[in-house]
Amino acid sequence: MKALCWHGKHDIRYDTVPDPVIEHPRDAIIRVSSCAICGSDLHLYDGFVPGMEHGDIMGHEFMGEVVEVGAENRRLRVGDRVVVPFTIICGECDQCRRGNFSVCERTNRNKDAADKMFGHTTAGLFGYTHLTGGYAGGQAEYVRVPYADVAPVKVPAELSDEQVLFLGDILPTGWQAAAQCDIQPDDIVAIWGAGPVGQFCILSALLMGAKQVVVIDRVPERLRMAQQLGPDRVTLVDFENQSVLEALNEITQGKGPDKCIDAVGLEAHATRSLDSIYDRVKQAVMLETDRPHVLREMIYVCRPGGIVSIPGVYGGLVDKIPMGALMNKGLTIRTGQTHVNRWTDDLLQRIIDRQIDPTFVISHRVTLAEGPSMYETFRDKHDGCIKVVMTPA
Ligand code: NAD
Ligand code: ZN
Ligand code: ZN
Repeated sequence: MKALCWHGKHDIRYDTVPDPVIEHPRDAIIRVSSCAICGSDLHLYDGFVPGMEHGDIMGHEFMGEVVEVGAENRRLRVGDRVVVPFTIICGECDQCRRGNFSVCERTNRNKDAADKMFGHTTAGLFGYTHLTGGYAGGQAEYVRVPYADVAPVKVPAELSDEQVLFLGDILPTGWQAAAQCDIQPDDIVAIWGAGPVGQFCILSALLMGAKQVVVIDRVPERLRMAQQLGPDRVTLVDFENQSVLEALNEITQGKGPDKCIDAVGLEAHATRSLDSIYDRVKQAVMLETDRPHVLREMIYVCRPGGIVSIPGVYGGLVDKIPMGALMNKGLTIRTGQTHVNRWTDDLLQRIIDRQIDPTFVISHRVTLAEGPSMYETFRDKHDGCIKVVMTPA
């Protein structure tokens, strides 16, 4: 079959690879009908995540039709149409029973490496690093889904792929980031990053009743898209041309936003600050793995007693975090890879009810073969690129 494979930094290829086969009786094989490139894939593309190997199949946002089912899988049948969450879960361990699916204790088959890196293992993930199990991803014609009797979400025929595809990752990610903020009717919520994840954070914060949502980015078409989500309640800050701290203090009359969401992660850009030069130098000489510019800004500007929610991905060590501000202002930090299945029933119903139409983020529809160049287009935000959906030939 054909698949997009990682061969090193900035080197994704459309390769011919062996077809996946059932390896365990709970597995299923899915013929992929649609898949997407996620901002998290860019961290692999840009070489910031350790534990990738030559030939790894990329992709963790995908859906399709079940074409083969293992003997012990009593939940799926050949012909079912499913969206597959990016987190692989067993459904039985202590964490899965608590709904903490992204830290499932059993599905990471390289648990020992994760234990060493993070102190404890986290869930297996599709198309990600070998630290999360090294499972083949879904930017492919076919994919093996382990524990396929637990996570895959069956979707009704009347909904298009584009309406439901993002249930596997970025829609619940935006939703969880907003839910973690315990949004109150008086809240001003500031959201850094107006990429696809940021867009769903904004949508979710508005649906959860935030009084005002302030969106920080510098890409004009992403800011315009954010404004359209809530013409009366969304305020924009262009970090290229404005001081983010000054703008947020002005908007909140010096109080600071009640809730802050980091939808940027470890590759934050900054044009007006000394700390970002410091980060780039330290990152270049491997003394720091991530660039936490947004984290610092959030902690500094957040209203005392507020919540800092971090869906943006971090991989390793960060430096110069203003711990004094965090502690003395009594801030709460909530973060994590998304517990996708915690939210999918509710979000699927909202899509069926036409309350949410996730298709608005899609800017590019291409074939899987065009994938390698689309990584670059998406990363560089060329051609108005916001979200890429790919279909295998
Ligand atoms: P993206 O790269 O398209 O979007 C990031 C946006 O942040 C861009 O629009 C960029 O212009 C903006 N940005 C950069 N520096 C900034 C700054 N200093 N201030 C404000 N904005 C800034 O990616 P995406 O697909 O939207 O993903 C966003 C993040 O969410 C990534 O880190 C991704 O890995 C992460 N993510 C996490 C989960 C999870 O389970 N927690 C799931 C999906 C994605
Ligand atoms: Zn993702
Ligand atoms: Zn589990």
